[in-house]
Amino acid sequence: MTDLAHEELVRAALDAQKRAYAPYSSFPVGAALRTASGKIYQGTNVENASFGLTICAERVAAAAAVAAGERDFAAIAVVSRGGVTPCGACRQFLAEFAPLLPIVTVDSQQPDRQATYRLDALLPEQFAKDDL
Ligand SMILES: [Zn+2]
Repeated sequence: MTDLAHEELVRAALDAQKRAYAPYSSFPVGAALRTASGKIYQGTNVENASFGLTICAERVAAAAAVAAGERDFAAIAVVSRGGVTPCGACRQFLAEFAPLLPIVTVDSQQPDRQATYRLDALLPEQFAKDDL
């Protein structure tokens, strides 16, 4: 990913975070997923009074891409307070489409504070369709 593409992805995730629906946790998260076509799909966490129905920003972005017919994921940026990595459920969800996906985490309070991981490092021994 070029520096320009990287910056564009981070900006899209920061932008998405502003639209998060997080009235219960007060922990807004924004995600931006780039596909092989170059398009970016945004996601935010969407919480619910029935807490178990809450969905994370990463899965919203991935589902938006799939719904648009895109399954070849190139990279994802995730913005949150503290720059946390995706939860276990999101790691598994993303692994379905891109087991080696680069993940950029960004601290929303210090956007220059970023880290890059590869999904197989965050989720080794992934459960995949070949296991069925
Ligand atoms: Zn998650």
